[in-house]
Amino acid sequence: MTVRTRIAPSPTGDPHVGTAYIALFNMAFARQHGGEFILRIEDTDQTRSTAESEQMILDSLRWLGLDWAEGPDKPGPHGPYRQSERGDIYAKYTQQLLDEGKAFKCYRTSEELDQLRNQRREAGLQGALKESDLALSADEVAKREAEGAPYVVRMKVPEEGVCVFDDMLRGAIEVEWSQVDCQILMKSDGMPTYHLANVVDDHLMEITHVLRGEEWISSAPKHQLLYNYFGWDMPKLCHMPLLRNPDKSKLSKRKNPTSIIYYQRMGYMAEALLNYLARMGWSMPDEREKFSLEEMIENFDISRVSLGGPIFDQEKLSWLNGLWIREELNDEQFAAAFQQWALNPEYLMQIIPLIKPRVEKFSDVAPVASFLLSGMLPIDESSFEHKSLQQEDIRRVLQFSSWMLDAEQNFSRDHLFAQCKALADGMELKIRDFLFPLFVAIAGTSASVSVVDSMQILGPDMSRARVRHALNIVGGPSKKEAKRWEKEYRELAKALA
Ligand code: GLU
Repeated sequence: MTVRTRIAPSPTGDPHVGTAYIALFNMAFARQHGGEFILRIEDTDQTRSTAESEQMILDSLRWLGLDWAEGPDKPGPHGPYRQSERGDIYAKYTQQLLDEGKAFKCYRTSEELDQLRNQRREAGLQGALKESDLALSADEVAKREAEGAPYVVRMKVPEEGVCVFDDMLRGAIEVEWSQVDCQILMKSDGMPTYHLANVVDDHLMEITHVLRGEEWISSAPKHQLLYNYFGWDMPKLCHMPLLRNPDKSKLSKRKNPTSIIYYQRMGYMAEALLNYLARMGWSMPDEREKFSLEEMIENFDISRVSLGGPIFDQEKLSWLNGLWIREELNDEQFAAAFQQWALNPEYLMQIIPLIKPRVEKFSDVAPVASFLLSGMLPIDESSFEHKSLQQEDIRRVLQFSSWMLDAEQNFSRDHLFAQCKALADGMELKIRDFLFPLFVAIAGTSASVSVVDSMQILGPDMSRARVRHALNIVGGPSKKEAKRWEKEYRELAKALA
């Protein structure tokens, strides 16, 4: 048997460090066994998936050196490797389950489902909705069918008993079937859900081991049941501990930059970031902290993964990066790496159109552009002094902008400007005044090139981190203010696109 592992990201946002972490362990496991590591794009959620996000994920994983043997860009015997191109396959297997009585069409409307759930709650019942709850009379089904009413396909799930499945790190895990719902396999638009597509693809792509985040543990009973229904062997499952913020909460972009692009823009070495991710829950037999991907693979042993939540701590990462820079790069290599980071044509071509109109000679470039080649900026309270804006306005602008940017996916300049304008109007501030604190947060001074262009170049996580940093300097809302501000913001946010 050839060991085959995969990373199966959904292209719905910026490439996440958690994806790189899981990809790294899948790759190390496969390589240690002389096996293959592949990449599959799980884009069944058509409303949230984008081609740009897919491209950024591929670019970021490649930058880190986590290359795959088969993938959307590397045709292989098990393609296509993008789920949106595999619709016929999922339709065929859904039909098979329907024909064999292992799945059923469900015509229930969302109002009916809410009602059913409320009834359960009122009756003090805790279990999931089962086929017996969802069933409609034969007449009603025939009527809805004749009307061409929309339906989903759900899997049948035992009403009682216990599901037991194996996890490579945790051993046997037991889940009561009463807690497992009749998962939707095919949505009313004919698209499969994650569960069906994931199981069908792992089987057809001959995946032998699934290493993924522990948030998927609750899906395992459904997956195991689907493998049984199809009569297929289930890959071995290994649920990795989730990365956490220093306060132990699940790593989230609201508290910690999570995008690989942020760490790239911050000037971390790919090798150091990989090394740091490898240290998340795993250690070398001799406990040394600095090691390369090859050294990790040589010494890899999945049973050395510890289940305590690994903390992703930027200070520790910076320390490790410092070691890599000092110990692995001679001066020539440092120069080449720095040049590649700061002065590569792609980045320069984003910056030049912005700064060219503002310089008279090349010696003006560095002062104007330095904030685009920096991490957190050296600003303090005095940086925010303004002739007419009150301190309270500045704090509110930064907090509201921070909330807006947290929720924002689209960082194109025009869109960001429209969002800022909508907030400014709602707050009854002139757009110029509204943008002042943002200029200071993003560029360190209000005498700078366009702030929305700068945010587009710096990217979501760097922009968010700088606004959060600025907010910490001027002071975020007190507990009392927070409630009022949140309410105000919710009102204003209605005007956002
Ligand atoms: N598409 C899922 C994700 O985004 C994959 C989960 C799995 O590995 O099964 O994480």
